Amino acid sequence: MAVTCIRCGKDMDSAPGCVPGVYMDGAGGLYQPIPYSGAGTGPACPECGAVRGEPHHVDCGAELCPKCGARLLGCACRLMWRPAGPH
Ligand SMILES: [Zn+2]
Ligand SMILES: [Zn+2]
Ligand SMILES: [Zn+2]
Repeated sequence: MAVTCIRCGKDMDSAPGCVPGVYMDGAGGLYQPIPYSGAGTGPACPECGAVRGEPHHVDCGAELCPKCGARLLGCACRLMWRPAGPH
């Protein structure tokens, strides 16, 4: 079943990863998203299909929070994503 990522607009089953971006917390701190590591689970993320070294798609249950290291969807950091843009 095809699921479209609302962040990159691509089909999660066929896109190898999401678009580059950065997470921001309520205090203005910036955190680089943790890409899929491939550790122990194979060449592609079992949840969103991102390949090793690529960022997870939006709301991926396997993505880790770059601030606290817990599962991003379940942690209390409430990080907001924004596209990686020119500085
Ligand atoms: Zn995506
Ligand atoms: Zn994922
Ligand atoms: Zn967190």
